[in-house]
Amino acid sequence: MKRTGFLYDERFLLHKTGPDHPECPDRLEAIYKGLKEAGLLSKLITIQATKARQRWVEAVHTPRHLIRFEEACMLHLPEYGCPDNQMCPDTYEIAMLAVGGVLNMVTLLMEGKIDNGFCAVRPPGHHAEVSQALGFCYFNNVAIAARFLQLKWGIEKVGIVDFDVHHGNGTQHIFEQDPTVFYYSIHEHPSFSFPGTGREFEKGTGPGQGFTLNSPVLPGQGDNEYKAILQRDLLPAFESFKPDVILVSAGFDAHVDDDMSDINLSTECFTWMMQRIVDMAEKYSHGRVISVLEGGYSLKRLPELIVNHVRVLLGDMERID
Ligand SMILES: [Zn+2]
Repeated sequence: MKRTGFLYDERFLLHKTGPDHPECPDRLEAIYKGLKEAGLLSKLITIQATKARQRWVEAVHTPRHLIRFEEACMLHLPEYGCPDNQMCPDTYEIAMLAVGGVLNMVTLLMEGKIDNGFCAVRPPGHHAEVSQALGFCYFNNVAIAARFLQLKWGIEKVGIVDFDVHHGNGTQHIFEQDPTVFYYSIHEHPSFSFPGTGREFEKGTGPGQGFTLNSPVLPGQGDNEYKAILQRDLLPAFESFKPDVILVSAGFDAHVDDDMSDINLSTECFTWMMQRIVDMAEKYSHGRVISVLEGGYSLKRLPELIVNHVRVLLGDMERID
Protein backbone atom coordinates (compact mmCIF):
# COMPACT_ATOMS: atom_id res chain seq x y z
CA MET A 1 0.00 0.00 0.00
CA LYS A 2 0.99 3.58 -0.61
CA ARG A 3 1.86 6.00 2.16
CA THR A 4 -1.06 8.39 1.75
CA GLY A 5 -1.26 11.66 3.66
CA PHE A 6 -4.60 12.89 4.96
CA LEU A 7 -5.08 16.52 5.90
CA TYR A 8 -7.98 17.21 8.22
CA ASP A 9 -8.30 19.72 11.02
CA GLU A 10 -11.36 20.37 13.18
CA ARG A 11 -10.67 24.08 12.89
CA PHE A 12 -11.81 23.85 9.25
CA LEU A 13 -15.31 23.46 10.73
CA LEU A 14 -15.08 26.93 12.29
CA HIS A 15 -15.53 28.61 8.91
CA LYS A 16 -19.28 29.26 9.26
CA THR A 17 -21.22 30.22 6.17
CA GLY A 18 -24.65 30.73 7.69
CA PRO A 19 -27.84 28.69 7.58
CA ASP A 20 -28.68 26.76 4.39
CA HIS A 21 -25.34 27.51 2.73
CA PRO A 22 -24.27 24.46 0.70
CA GLU A 23 -20.57 24.91 1.55
CA CYS A 24 -21.13 24.00 5.19
CA PRO A 25 -19.04 22.37 7.95
CA ASP A 26 -21.27 19.26 7.75
CA ARG A 27 -19.47 18.35 4.51
CA LEU A 28 -16.18 17.75 6.27
CA GLU A 29 -17.83 16.02 9.20
CA ALA A 30 -19.52 13.61 6.77
CA ILE A 31 -16.18 12.95 5.05
CA TYR A 32 -14.35 12.32 8.32
CA LYS A 33 -17.07 10.04 9.63
CA GLY A 34 -17.11 8.11 6.35
CA LEU A 35 -13.35 7.48 6.48
CA LYS A 36 -13.55 6.51 10.13
CA GLU A 37 -16.39 4.05 9.61
CA ALA A 38 -14.58 2.51 6.65
CA GLY A 39 -11.61 1.86 8.94
CA LEU A 40 -9.32 3.99 6.78
CA LEU A 41 -8.04 6.56 9.30
CA SER A 42 -5.45 4.16 10.72
CA LYS A 43 -4.13 3.49 7.21
CA LEU A 44 -3.52 7.17 6.49
CA ILE A 45 -0.75 9.50 7.62
CA THR A 46 -2.42 12.40 9.36
CA ILE A 47 -1.17 15.85 8.40
CA GLN A 48 -1.62 18.86 10.64
CA ALA A 49 -2.76 22.25 9.43
CA THR A 50 -0.62 25.23 10.35
CA LYS A 51 -1.12 28.80 9.26
CA ALA A 52 0.48 29.46 5.85
CA ARG A 53 3.30 31.92 5.61
CA GLN A 54 2.05 35.07 3.95
CA ARG A 55 4.80 35.01 1.33
CA TRP A 56 3.45 31.77 -0.17
CA VAL A 57 -0.12 33.06 -0.31
CA GLU A 58 1.27 36.17 -1.98
CA ALA A 59 2.99 34.03 -4.58
CA VAL A 60 -0.51 33.90 -6.11
CA HIS A 61 -2.66 36.61 -4.49
CA THR A 62 -2.14 40.36 -4.18
CA PRO A 63 -1.29 41.78 -0.74
CA ARG A 64 -4.37 43.97 -1.14
CA HIS A 65 -6.60 40.88 -1.39
CA LEU A 66 -5.18 39.56 1.88
CA ILE A 67 -5.59 42.87 3.67
CA ARG A 68 -9.16 43.42 2.48
CA PHE A 69 -10.13 39.86 3.39
CA GLU A 70 -8.59 40.09 6.85
CA GLU A 71 -10.22 43.48 7.45
CA ALA A 72 -13.62 42.13 6.39
CA CYS A 73 -13.27 39.42 9.05
CA MET A 74 -12.10 41.86 11.70
CA LEU A 75 -15.10 44.06 10.95
CA HIS A 76 -17.39 41.00 11.23
CA LEU A 77 -18.75 41.58 7.72
CA PRO A 78 -21.11 38.77 6.62
CA GLU A 79 -19.48 38.31 3.22
CA TYR A 80 -16.37 39.17 1.25
CA GLY A 81 -15.93 39.52 -2.50
CA CYS A 82 -19.35 38.32 -3.58
CA PRO A 83 -22.68 37.44 -1.95
CA ASP A 84 -21.95 33.68 -2.22
CA ASN A 85 -18.90 34.11 -0.03
CA GLN A 86 -20.60 34.22 3.33
CA MET A 87 -18.27 34.03 6.26
CA CYS A 88 -17.61 34.59 9.92
CA PRO A 89 -14.89 36.46 11.84
CA ASP A 90 -12.70 33.31 11.84
CA THR A 91 -12.78 32.76 8.10
CA TYR A 92 -9.50 34.52 7.29
CA GLU A 93 -7.61 32.44 9.86
CA ILE A 94 -9.22 29.22 8.66
CA ALA A 95 -8.44 30.00 5.02
CA MET A 96 -4.79 30.59 6.00
CA LEU A 97 -4.83 27.25 7.87
CA ALA A 98 -6.26 25.45 4.85
CA VAL A 99 -3.49 26.78 2.62
CA GLY A 100 -0.87 26.01 5.26
CA GLY A 101 -2.14 22.44 5.61
CA VAL A 102 -1.95 21.86 1.86
CA LEU A 103 1.62 23.24 1.84
CA ASN A 104 2.52 20.89 4.72
CA MET A 105 1.26 18.03 2.57
CA VAL A 106 3.46 19.22 -0.31
CA THR A 107 6.46 19.40 2.02
CA LEU A 108 6.00 15.82 3.23
CA LEU A 109 5.60 14.66 -0.36
CA MET A 110 8.78 16.40 -1.46
CA GLU A 111 10.68 15.10 1.58
CA GLY A 112 9.66 11.60 0.53
CA LYS A 113 7.70 10.94 3.72
CA ILE A 114 4.46 10.24 1.86
CA ASP A 115 3.73 8.97 -1.67
CA ASN A 116 0.56 10.98 -2.26
CA GLY A 117 -2.21 12.65 -0.29
CA PHE A 118 -5.72 13.98 0.09
CA CYS A 119 -6.54 17.34 1.68
CA ALA A 120 -10.03 17.61 3.20
CA VAL A 121 -10.06 21.40 3.43
CA ARG A 122 -12.50 24.24 3.74
CA PRO A 123 -12.85 26.82 2.33
CA PRO A 124 -12.30 25.49 -1.22
CA GLY A 125 -10.10 27.39 -3.68
CA HIS A 126 -10.43 27.00 -7.44
CA HIS A 127 -12.74 29.99 -8.05
CA ALA A 128 -10.49 32.41 -6.12
CA GLU A 129 -8.84 34.91 -8.45
CA VAL A 130 -5.56 36.77 -7.87
CA SER A 131 -7.36 39.59 -6.09
CA GLN A 132 -10.92 38.39 -5.65
CA ALA A 133 -12.86 35.87 -3.59
CA LEU A 134 -15.56 34.08 -5.58
CA GLY A 135 -17.81 31.03 -5.52
CA PHE A 136 -17.21 30.03 -1.86
CA CYS A 137 -13.42 30.37 -2.43
CA TYR A 138 -11.01 32.89 -0.82
CA PHE A 139 -7.48 31.61 -1.43
CA ASN A 140 -6.67 29.33 -4.34
CA ASN A 141 -5.25 26.38 -2.39
CA VAL A 142 -4.18 24.39 -5.45
CA ALA A 143 -2.63 27.35 -7.27
CA ILE A 144 -0.61 28.27 -4.18
CA ALA A 145 0.53 24.64 -3.88
CA ALA A 146 1.68 24.71 -7.52
CA ARG A 147 3.75 27.87 -6.96
CA PHE A 148 5.14 26.46 -3.70
CA LEU A 149 6.26 23.31 -5.56
CA GLN A 150 8.09 25.46 -8.07
CA LEU A 151 9.54 28.19 -5.85
CA LYS A 152 10.39 26.18 -2.76
CA TRP A 153 11.05 22.72 -4.20
CA GLY A 154 12.36 23.49 -7.69
CA ILE A 155 9.66 21.47 -9.45
CA GLU A 156 9.55 22.51 -13.09
CA LYS A 157 6.20 21.34 -14.45
CA VAL A 158 2.96 21.02 -12.48
CA GLY A 159 -0.14 19.44 -13.99
CA ILE A 160 -3.51 20.37 -12.50
CA VAL A 161 -6.61 18.24 -13.10
CA ASP A 162 -9.86 19.90 -12.03
CA PHE A 163 -12.90 17.62 -12.12
CA ASP A 164 -15.16 19.82 -10.00
CA VAL A 165 -18.35 20.30 -12.01
CA HIS A 166 -17.68 24.04 -12.16
CA HIS A 167 -14.84 25.56 -14.15
CA GLY A 168 -11.88 26.67 -12.06
CA ASN A 169 -11.79 30.21 -13.40
CA GLY A 170 -9.30 31.34 -10.77
CA THR A 171 -6.78 28.59 -11.43
CA GLN A 172 -7.05 29.06 -15.18
CA HIS A 173 -6.50 32.80 -14.99
CA ILE A 174 -3.56 32.48 -12.59
CA PHE A 175 -1.68 30.16 -14.97
CA GLU A 176 -3.04 30.94 -18.43
CA GLN A 177 0.15 32.72 -19.53
CA ASP A 178 2.43 30.14 -17.95
CA PRO A 179 3.75 27.13 -19.90
CA THR A 180 5.09 25.48 -16.72
CA VAL A 181 1.66 24.80 -15.18
CA PHE A 182 -0.83 22.84 -17.29
CA TYR A 183 -4.44 23.43 -16.24
CA TYR A 184 -7.04 20.89 -17.34
CA SER A 185 -10.72 21.20 -16.43
CA ILE A 186 -13.75 19.07 -17.22
CA HIS A 187 -16.97 20.79 -16.16
CA GLU A 188 -20.60 21.39 -16.97
CA HIS A 189 -21.21 24.19 -19.44
CA PRO A 190 -23.48 26.02 -19.52
CA SER A 191 -23.97 25.50 -15.80
CA PHE A 192 -26.46 27.88 -14.17
CA SER A 193 -24.08 30.34 -15.91
CA PHE A 194 -21.47 30.03 -13.09
CA PRO A 195 -18.69 30.92 -13.46
CA GLY A 196 -19.27 31.16 -17.22
CA THR A 197 -15.64 30.57 -18.21
CA GLY A 198 -13.97 27.40 -19.46
CA ARG A 199 -15.02 27.22 -23.07
CA GLU A 200 -13.12 25.04 -25.54
CA PHE A 201 -11.38 27.96 -27.21
CA GLU A 202 -9.78 29.10 -23.93
CA LYS A 203 -6.40 27.42 -24.37
CA GLY A 204 -3.99 29.79 -22.66
CA THR A 205 -2.42 33.02 -23.83
CA GLY A 206 1.05 34.23 -24.87
CA PRO A 207 3.73 31.75 -23.80
CA GLY A 208 0.99 29.76 -22.04
CA GLN A 209 -0.81 29.03 -25.31
CA GLY A 210 -1.61 25.31 -25.39
CA PHE A 211 -1.13 24.79 -21.64
CA THR A 212 -4.77 25.30 -20.66
CA LEU A 213 -7.34 22.76 -21.78
CA ASN A 214 -11.06 22.86 -21.14
CA SER A 215 -13.60 20.12 -21.73
CA PRO A 216 -17.07 21.63 -21.31
CA VAL A 217 -19.80 19.01 -20.96
CA LEU A 218 -23.47 19.64 -21.67
CA PRO A 219 -26.05 19.28 -18.89
CA GLY A 220 -27.66 15.86 -18.70
CA GLN A 221 -24.53 13.88 -19.57
CA GLY A 222 -22.97 11.16 -17.47
CA ASP A 223 -20.34 8.44 -17.10
CA ASN A 224 -19.96 7.46 -20.75
CA GLU A 225 -19.46 11.02 -21.96
CA TYR A 226 -17.01 11.82 -19.14
CA LYS A 227 -14.92 8.72 -19.77
CA ALA A 228 -14.78 9.35 -23.53
CA ILE A 229 -13.88 13.02 -23.08
CA LEU A 230 -11.15 12.37 -20.52
CA GLN A 231 -9.59 9.75 -22.78
CA ARG A 232 -9.79 12.11 -25.75
CA ASP A 233 -8.54 15.27 -24.01
CA LEU A 234 -6.77 14.78 -20.66
CA LEU A 235 -4.77 11.62 -21.24
CA PRO A 236 -2.98 12.75 -24.43
CA ALA A 237 -2.44 16.27 -23.04
CA PHE A 238 -0.62 14.98 -19.96
CA GLU A 239 1.22 12.36 -22.03
CA SER A 240 2.83 15.18 -23.96
CA PHE A 241 3.22 17.60 -20.99
CA LYS A 242 4.60 14.99 -18.57
CA PRO A 243 4.04 16.83 -15.29
CA ASP A 244 6.60 16.39 -12.50
CA VAL A 245 3.79 16.51 -9.92
CA ILE A 246 0.01 16.31 -10.37
CA LEU A 247 -2.41 18.37 -8.27
CA VAL A 248 -6.11 17.55 -8.32
CA SER A 249 -8.92 20.01 -7.73
CA ALA A 250 -11.23 17.32 -6.46
CA GLY A 251 -14.84 18.46 -6.58
CA PHE A 252 -17.57 15.87 -6.27
CA ASP A 253 -20.51 18.01 -7.41
CA ALA A 254 -20.88 16.26 -10.79
CA HIS A 255 -22.46 13.33 -8.93
CA VAL A 256 -25.99 12.48 -10.03
CA ASP A 257 -27.27 13.07 -6.48
CA ASP A 258 -25.58 16.48 -6.11
CA ASP A 259 -28.01 19.38 -6.47
CA MET A 260 -25.30 21.73 -7.72
CA SER A 261 -25.24 20.36 -11.25
CA ASP A 262 -27.10 18.60 -14.01
CA ILE A 263 -24.24 16.18 -14.67
CA ASN A 264 -25.10 12.62 -13.73
CA LEU A 265 -21.95 10.79 -12.72
CA SER A 266 -22.11 7.60 -10.73
CA THR A 267 -19.93 6.99 -7.68
CA GLU A 268 -17.96 4.46 -9.75
CA CYS A 269 -17.13 7.05 -12.40
CA PHE A 270 -15.31 9.18 -9.80
CA THR A 271 -13.24 6.11 -8.92
CA TRP A 272 -12.54 5.51 -12.62
CA MET A 273 -11.38 9.13 -13.03
CA MET A 274 -9.10 9.03 -10.01
CA GLN A 275 -7.58 5.74 -11.13
CA ARG A 276 -6.65 7.34 -14.48
CA ILE A 277 -5.13 10.33 -12.68
CA VAL A 278 -3.07 8.06 -10.40
CA ASP A 279 -2.00 6.06 -13.49
CA MET A 280 -0.69 9.27 -15.07
CA ALA A 281 1.12 10.18 -11.86
CA GLU A 282 2.79 6.74 -11.85
CA LYS A 283 3.81 7.15 -15.48
CA TYR A 284 5.08 10.72 -15.51
CA SER A 285 5.37 12.05 -11.95
CA HIS A 286 6.96 9.30 -9.79
CA GLY A 287 3.46 8.69 -8.40
CA ARG A 288 3.39 12.18 -6.91
CA VAL A 289 -0.22 13.36 -6.71
CA ILE A 290 -1.93 15.57 -4.16
CA SER A 291 -5.68 15.92 -4.24
CA VAL A 292 -7.43 18.90 -2.66
CA LEU A 293 -11.15 19.07 -1.91
CA GLU A 294 -13.14 21.68 -3.85
CA GLY A 295 -16.93 21.26 -4.18
CA GLY A 296 -19.26 18.34 -3.52
CA TYR A 297 -22.42 19.01 -1.58
CA SER A 298 -24.34 15.76 -1.28
CA LEU A 299 -23.91 14.88 2.38
CA LYS A 300 -25.33 11.46 1.57
CA ARG A 301 -22.79 10.69 -1.16
CA LEU A 302 -19.64 12.47 0.04
CA PRO A 303 -18.61 9.69 2.48
CA GLU A 304 -18.58 6.93 -0.16
CA LEU A 305 -17.02 9.22 -2.77
CA ILE A 306 -14.14 10.18 -0.49
CA VAL A 307 -13.67 6.65 0.85
CA ASN A 308 -13.19 5.41 -2.73
CA HIS A 309 -11.02 8.41 -3.64
CA VAL A 310 -8.69 7.73 -0.72
CA ARG A 311 -8.65 3.98 -1.46
CA VAL A 312 -7.47 4.76 -4.99
CA LEU A 313 -4.61 6.82 -3.54
CA LEU A 314 -3.75 4.01 -1.14
CA GLY A 315 -3.72 1.54 -4.04
CA ASP A 316 -6.42 -0.43 -2.24
CA MET A 317 -9.27 -0.22 -4.73
CA GLU A 318 -10.49 -2.64 -7.32
CA ARG A 319 -9.78 -1.52 -10.87
CA ILE A 320 -12.76 -0.03 -12.72
CA ASP A 321 -12.78 -0.24 -16.54
ZN1 LIG B 1 -18.15 23.07 -7.92
